[in-house]
Amino acid sequence: MGEVSPHLGVEAKLARWGRAVVVVVLVVAALDWVGWATGVEGLTRVYLAWPQMVPWSALWLVGLAVAILVQTGQPSRRRVWAGRGLAMMVGACAVVVLAEYVSGRSLGLDQMWFGEAVRTLQSTWPGRPSPLTASSVLILAAAVALTRVDRRWTCVVWSVCVMGAGAIPCFGVVAYVFGSMRLVGVTPSTGMAISTAVAVLLLVVATLVARPDRPPLAWLLARPDGVALLRLYGLAITFVFLVALSRLTFLGLGRSQNAAFSLSLVVGTVLAVSVGFRLRNQEQSLLKDRADAEMRYHILANNAVDIIVHLRGSRVVWISPSVEVAFGGPPKQWIGSGFRLRIHPDDLDTLANALHRITNGDSVLQRFRVRSFDGRYHWVDGHGKPYMDAEGNVDGLIAALRIADDRVKAEQQLERLARFDTLTGLANRAEAISRLESALAQPPANGAHLGILFCDIDHFKTINDTWGHGIGDTVLATLAARVSESVRHGDTVGRTGGDEILVVLPGVHSIDEVARIGEQIRRRAAEPIHQSGTTIHATMSIGATIADPGESVASITARADAAMYQAKSSNRNTVIQVEPARLPRPIAR
Ligand code: GH3
Ligand code: MG
Repeated sequence: MGEVSPHLGVEAKLARWGRAVVVVVLVVAALDWVGWATGVEGLTRVYLAWPQMVPWSALWLVGLAVAILVQTGQPSRRRVWAGRGLAMMVGACAVVVLAEYVSGRSLGLDQMWFGEAVRTLQSTWPGRPSPLTASSVLILAAAVALTRVDRRWTCVVWSVCVMGAGAIPCFGVVAYVFGSMRLVGVTPSTGMAISTAVAVLLLVVATLVARPDRPPLAWLLARPDGVALLRLYGLAITFVFLVALSRLTFLGLGRSQNAAFSLSLVVGTVLAVSVGFRLRNQEQSLLKDRADAEMRYHILANNAVDIIVHLRGSRVVWISPSVEVAFGGPPKQWIGSGFRLRIHPDDLDTLANALHRITNGDSVLQRFRVRSFDGRYHWVDGHGKPYMDAEGNVDGLIAALRIADDRVKAEQQLERLARFDTLTGLANRAEAISRLESALAQPPANGAHLGILFCDIDHFKTINDTWGHGIGDTVLATLAARVSESVRHGDTVGRTGGDEILVVLPGVHSIDEVARIGEQIRRRAAEPIHQSGTTIHATMSIGATIADPGESVASITARADAAMYQAKSSNRNTVIQVEPARLPRPIAR
């Protein structure tokens, strides 16, 4: 699920261009050799008054071009070593030539290729590449040999070599463009040919492109405006080339040096300005797209209900402006702070677990509480997943947080409605029976039993009929509260029917204890109820029993119910206790 780096496309394009320029150099060098072999002078020099590309220079260019080509992309070890060896051989040849210049002697290699032709066309040092060519080729050979050496120092040395190797032919090309032949020509017949200078420059570009992860290309690509800068540099170089080419054309058309120079400047400027204008237009549309995207982002960020947060570990790296409305405090007060510090202590473990799952690559939904700037906690539904940066690497996590206070409240209310009776606040039938079931399933503690009381209001219909349903409700709620008050906190009191209340008493020691509690309830229930200026006397009939080990809910409730009906038959307002498998027995009042 990794995103593609925005630079990958650019790098692939650059690699293609790198290969293309290497092919151009190979073609130029091959044509040069054809020129020497066939005596077609036009192939060895662009302009008759300019120095030629000697066969050695062409051979070096081929050597370096192949050395770069085999090391471009993802080369195998063998290809790397082949390229490195080739570059070192070219470098060694360049050292020999420089040594020849320094010592003033020829080692006999100069005229190794096409000796007769070079002797005819070159008066001084025939066949020997110029010092400028040998120097730039030597430095470039060092860079090419270091292309795939990854030590700490190589990156810097490689960059310096590439730039150095590029500076010399740049200087050469500028000299040609401005007609300063004396700067590049050692003698009228020996000098750095413009084709050599251009070819070395192209090889410098190909070498740079072979390692886009190293400076200066890495630096350029890392910049948001890297592509634009590349275009700018490309435009500057194109301008120089255009001027040089048009100057040659005008010279070829028989114009004077001055006229050719002026006209070439005009042509170069017009073409460069039109290309620049086109690029500028493209950039403008890109800038407009970016401005539109930014505007959309601001609209989203400022109006979003969700809070988007980017976390690295527990630290907030970025948070959307919507946080201010949700939790108070502007984003800058959140950014850099620890997110854990704002989480409810009870939710820390679940959140840590969720964060761990996200670290493992999961997309996780988690509810937790976040403390806002006013100190209150808010329920939050968080949807988090790993955060992918622009390079496709995981960089912490990104989460969308939505305040869920209302949803939590509604859910809690629904849950309450599902489990509790709204009139009395007691557990409803399902909840009471479920609690009874779990109490029965618990292994009884030593000497402890589960007691059950089944209570029913006496003549409740009459109360309703006499006082009205509203008062009836109050009576029911009052008696329910009195029952609850008469038992311990952990005991269950549930409304199981119209005026029926079930009491589950875990941990009692005998049926007598259950009956005693039942008696307390009966007495408390029988106290007069003062309501709306009248006094109502309501009583309850209560059946008491105790659970047999392993007994079912149906069996125990049936027995308690039977005991309660016994109480009803015994003049009501009575507690009847029934022991398991025994006859019911009234409690003496
Ligand atoms: P008994 O002594 O035999 O129990 O007589 P009773 O009139 O209480 O009869 P019974 O327990 O069978 O009837 C329960 C009555 O409780 C029936 C119904 O009118 C009334 N009732 C049930 N639910 C409610 C309620 O939510 N509010 C009110 N006010 N009355 C209710
Ligand atoms: Mg009743």
